Amino acid sequence: MSKRFFIAALLLLTSLQALAAEVSGFRVWADPAKTRAVLDLDRKTAYRLFTLKNPHRVVIDLQGSSIDIPLELDEEHAGVIIGVRYGQPDKDTLRVVFDLSESAELKSFLLEPTAQYSHRLVIDLFTKSGRQKSSMVKHVADISKPNRNVVIAVDAGHGGEDPGAIGKKRTREKDVVLRIARELKKAIDAEPGMQAVLTRDGDYYIPLRGRYEIARKARADLFVSIHADAFSKRSVKGSSVFVLSARGASSEFARLLADSENASDLVGGVTLSDKDDMLASVLLDLSQSATREASNKVAGDILGALKRTGKTHKNYVGRANFMVLKSPDVPSVLVETAFISNPGEEKRLTEKEFQQRMARAITRGVRDYFYSSPPPGTWIAANRDSAKYIVARGDTLGGIANRYSVSLRSLRNANKIHGDVIHVGRELIIPTS
Ligand SMILES: [Zn+2]
Repeated sequence: MSKRFFIAALLLLTSLQALAAEVSGFRVWADPAKTRAVLDLDRKTAYRLFTLKNPHRVVIDLQGSSIDIPLELDEEHAGVIIGVRYGQPDKDTLRVVFDLSESAELKSFLLEPTAQYSHRLVIDLFTKSGRQKSSMVKHVADISKPNRNVVIAVDAGHGGEDPGAIGKKRTREKDVVLRIARELKKAIDAEPGMQAVLTRDGDYYIPLRGRYEIARKARADLFVSIHADAFSKRSVKGSSVFVLSARGASSEFARLLADSENASDLVGGVTLSDKDDMLASVLLDLSQSATREASNKVAGDILGALKRTGKTHKNYVGRANFMVLKSPDVPSVLVETAFISNPGEEKRLTEKEFQQRMARAITRGVRDYFYSSPPPGTWIAANRDSAKYIVARGDTLGGIANRYSVSLRSLRNANKIHGDVIHVGRELIIPTS
């Protein structure tokens, strides 16, 4: 090599180095939805990103770049990133590697300089548990409204392509449970401090997980799925209440039920992929125990109310691996109102009187539950110890309001009365304020 060429090569190398982007800063932070990593660069540079598994990593290759700072990880705000290092796989590439605690989806972009910052490469990492946490935060944040109503998501099982169980007289489960669900909504809405939302109000199919997603979006305090049972033995009858069993079905009978109820996701055209199951198990782990405790309690209260109303199939709350009950943060119960496979009960399921009776019984159970364990900040929490008054002949709403020093308006609101008409014998709630 001639001396002249050597000097030229050295000059070229130096000028390339002068052009190379330098990483001059590194920051991370995590919000509920994602972890964001930012690399400060002194100029725009070409880069590529890819992920690796076992263990989960993100690799960032920056072309013609160098680094003159130690890459220190602020562990408190690092979210999914548990480690960071860098190296030089070849002389033109700076490789930065993030070690991750779980797999993540990436989004990246370059930002132009601002007054505060130079060029930046931003990498957002979205994880499944992050998405889950972020929706739970929304849920928690929104219940700060004082004296709010408790919200009950009422889910009519099946629908659309999925008829559910079919009785001997061709009664379809999806039709009768929708009628019961509508009656249940009416009965719940008539209760002070309680309000219901229907997951479906028509003959269409909602995927099972979509149902509890609706409940969560409605900030529901409780999810009640309404069904009608079927069994090969036509003599079997009575209503039942189920909660989720994490270990799956606890008996052969429950397993059969779980199979027929869960099968509807296939009927509805949605296959449960491995991914979904993984997500489901992540969701379950997050807040399962508190939710299960509440689910058990409300199921017991509903079963108690059903027992006082008519025949129950069993004397205890059943446990089955119903997909629809897998909400991680909303206590969830499934009510099999009757056996559509039993000819007598099939007939009753179609009768308005029975539909209303079921709705009233379930409402009583739900009410018992919320009055014994009211969520903080709800109207029920504030008023469950308030006085009751039975309307006597000659009473007026204004007179009662005066007697208890409450406003006419709050008396009306507490009892969901719109006009001035009150009937003798009606029990009025006297609100605390
Ligand atoms: Zn069903």
